Amino acid sequence: MQYRIITFGCQMNKSDSERIATVLEKIGYKPAPAINGADLIVVNMCSVRQSAVDRVYGLVSKFQKIKNKKSGLKTILTGCLLRKDKKKLANRFDLVLDIANLPKWPKILDVNSAVISGRELLNTEDYLKIQPKYSSNFSALVPIMTGCNNFCTYCVVPYTRGREISRPAEEIICEIKKLIKRGHKEIWLLGQNVNSYKGRFNPVAKKRDRLNKRQDIKFINFPQLLRKINDVPGNFWIRFTSSHPKDFSDELINAMANCEKVTEYLNLPAQSGDNEILKKMNRSYTVAQYKNLVKKIRKKIPNISLSTDIIVGFPGETKKQFENTVNLFKEIKFDMAYIAKYSPRPGTAAAKMEDTVPQKEKDRREKVLTEILKENTLENNKKYIGKEIEILVENQKSPNSWLGKTRTHKNVLFESKKNLLGKFIRVKITDAHPWGLKGKIL
Ligand code: SAM
Ligand code: SF4
Repeated sequence: MQYRIITFGCQMNKSDSERIATVLEKIGYKPAPAINGADLIVVNMCSVRQSAVDRVYGLVSKFQKIKNKKSGLKTILTGCLLRKDKKKLANRFDLVLDIANLPKWPKILDVNSAVISGRELLNTEDYLKIQPKYSSNFSALVPIMTGCNNFCTYCVVPYTRGREISRPAEEIICEIKKLIKRGHKEIWLLGQNVNSYKGRFNPVAKKRDRLNKRQDIKFINFPQLLRKINDVPGNFWIRFTSSHPKDFSDELINAMANCEKVTEYLNLPAQSGDNEILKKMNRSYTVAQYKNLVKKIRKKIPNISLSTDIIVGFPGETKKQFENTVNLFKEIKFDMAYIAKYSPRPGTAAAKMEDTVPQKEKDRREKVLTEILKENTLENNKKYIGKEIEILVENQKSPNSWLGKTRTHKNVLFESKKNLLGKFIRVKITDAHPWGLKGKIL
C-alpha cells in the first residue's frame, strides 16, 4: 500500500505533513513515487488564500480520473481548513480529518469511515508529540507553538488552528538535541507568532520534589528559549518564523545579537505601510513603530537581512495609502518580500468589508512592489561581492552546480564536482543578482 501527501501553504503545513508521513508509515504505508501509483492520497490544505483553495478543486477532478481507473484509491482532506471550505469539499474526499486528531488517524483508517462517531474523533493526544519523518537530513522544521490569538482582520489562522498553544520547552530542546546528534545543520523554529511563545520549562525535577509529586513549573519566553537552544552543543544554525512586530521585545533583539547560532535573517511582516490600513487590519502597530523597530534591530545586528509580508488591495486601500507602502519599501529596502493580493476569507472581519480594489489594480500594485524589491535586493546583494562567507549547501542544480544559503538566507550558486549537500562550506562571492549570489568555493 502506497501513500502520497500533497502539501499547500506555509512551513507549518510542511511540518504537519512530516508528522502525517510518520503515522501512515507506522500503519504500513510506503511513499508512492507519483500520485498515479498511490492507494492513499492526503491533501494537506491551506485556507489562508483563495488561490490555494482553488487548486484543491483542480486536484479533485484529477483524483476522480485516477479513481475511475483504479478502484480502492482513498483520499483524505486535512490541514489549515476553514469550516466553510471543509463543508464544500467534504463530499469530494473519502475522509476529512483534523490534523489535531492525527494520533487517532490509524484507528480511523483501519475501520469503515461511516461508523466513526464524532466522539471518537475528539482530540485527546497532542499531535506535535509525534516524531516527524523529516524530509531533509540537514534542515529541520521544529514547531514551537501552534495557533494564533491576534485576529488580524483578513486572516483565517485563529479560526483554522485555534488559539495559541506553546510546546513545552524541554520537549523542543530534546527534539533539537536529537536532530543535532543525527547531523542536522539548520533548525527552523516555527509558529504563527513565535514572539509570544510561553512554554513550560521543567527539565529535571529534584528527587525530593518528585517523591512529593511537587514540582515548581516554570515558563520561559521566546528569547529565553532561543538562548537555551543556542546552548545545545554542536555546529548548527537557528532560524525562526514568523514574528509579529507588536511583540518584538528588546530582550529578543539582544538574544538574537548574543546567540552565535541564531542567523542574521528575520521575517518581520509589515502587511502595509499605511496607518489607517494597519488599524483596519488590527495589526496593533503604526508605521513609525515598525520603522523604529527595524532601526533598533539594525543597530544591534547591522548585517541583518530582512524579509516581510505585504498584502496589496486590502478593502478600501486607496492609491494614496498604497503609495505609503511603496514609501516603506523604498525606505527599508527589504531583502525579500512575500507580496499577496488580498482575497476575502469567509468568516473573517475583513470579509464583511467591501472588497473595493479591482483585481487588475491589485495586480498592478503587486508589480510595482516587486519592481522596487528587485532594485533593492540587487543593491543589497552587490554588497556581498568579494566577501568570503560560510554557506550551507541545500540543493543540487545540475551535476556540477549547487545552491547554498548564507546565514542571511541568500541563495548562492557555485560549481563543484563533489557532493556537498548538507555541508557548511566557505565561498567567495563573485557576482550578484536580484534573487541571489554567485560564488567560488574556497
Ligand atoms: N503570522 C504571520 C504574521 O503575523 O504576519 C503570517 C501568517 S499568514 C498565515 C501568512 C501571510 O499570508 C500573511 O503574512 C499575509 O500576508 C498573507 N495573508 C493572510 N491572509 C490573507 C488574505 N486574506 N489575503 C491575502 N493574503 C493573506
Ligand atoms: Fe494571521 Fe495575524 Fe495571526 Fe499572523 S498574527 S497568523 S496574520 S492572525
